[in-house]
Amino acid sequence: MSTNDYINRFLFDDTDIRGEIVAIEDTFQAAYQHQTFPKALTPIFGDFLAGAALLAEVLKFEGTLTLQARGQGNVALIMAETNHEGHLRGILRLQPDADSSAMSFDDISLPQLLGNGVLTITIEPNKGKRYQGIIAITNNTLAECLQDYFSNSEQLPTQIQLYSDAGRCGGLFLQCLPKQLVTDEEKREDLWQTAKQLAMTLSAKELFELENEQVLLRLFHEMQCRVFDAKPIVFRCSCSKERSGNALKSIGYDDAQALLQERDIISIDCEFCGKVYHFGEKDLDEIFERKNNLLH
Ligand SMILES: [Zn+2]
Repeated sequence: MSTNDYINRFLFDDTDIRGEIVAIEDTFQAAYQHQTFPKALTPIFGDFLAGAALLAEVLKFEGTLTLQARGQGNVALIMAETNHEGHLRGILRLQPDADSSAMSFDDISLPQLLGNGVLTITIEPNKGKRYQGIIAITNNTLAECLQDYFSNSEQLPTQIQLYSDAGRCGGLFLQCLPKQLVTDEEKREDLWQTAKQLAMTLSAKELFELENEQVLLRLFHEMQCRVFDAKPIVFRCSCSKERSGNALKSIGYDDAQALLQERDIISIDCEFCGKVYHFGEKDLDEIFERKNNLLH
């Protein structure tokens, strides 16, 4: 069993503190191999994948969660999408006029990359209402943005640590739930501070080279840490010919026909997984329901 590509929930006995830990390697590499962004941006892309995986596990729902940042900077879009089954995919898109060769992305903060960016968390449950949280990107890192979001919107003290390099990404999430097991304020604060400080000692090396369970035992050996079963995280794309066809539908029959005349066949690449879908005359007829129209 590989040490990575798993997420585990955990809690500390007799406290109101819970957490999650995730380390992702193969899934991360599968997700970025279809991306064309400059290499220096890989860790930022990794942060979004790890962040989405942690949020989906924290928020407990059946459906899709999307973590997306948009802006007017050199980076136009960073998006990670996951679901309750641990399927994960993402894209990072530069502005069409961004000069990636001239740009150095080293040590560039999110506001610099995205310029007046906005972060959205969207949850689309299989059943029930869609939820969307919107955060102005004012902090330098995704971890800080998300941490503020939880602390402000849910009013729950939260600590989020994200670790990404050129081939691995992951993170640690800690949250103090409302009073249940510990009611004494001072004791609550004490436990929270201890857990936070111990979590901060985590290194990327530990996170990526040890099993999640080992990492937690090492970090929190002085607290009673209860670790739940690991859930696999896998790269899986939900694209289909039908969905790609919708993109053609949006440009209209005449433009799609013109495109087809020009190229003999229309090819649409999936930005997430690189799969190519081809559309010919017959496909256009189906997409635009031409046959039906002719029959009537
Ligand atoms: Zn795809």
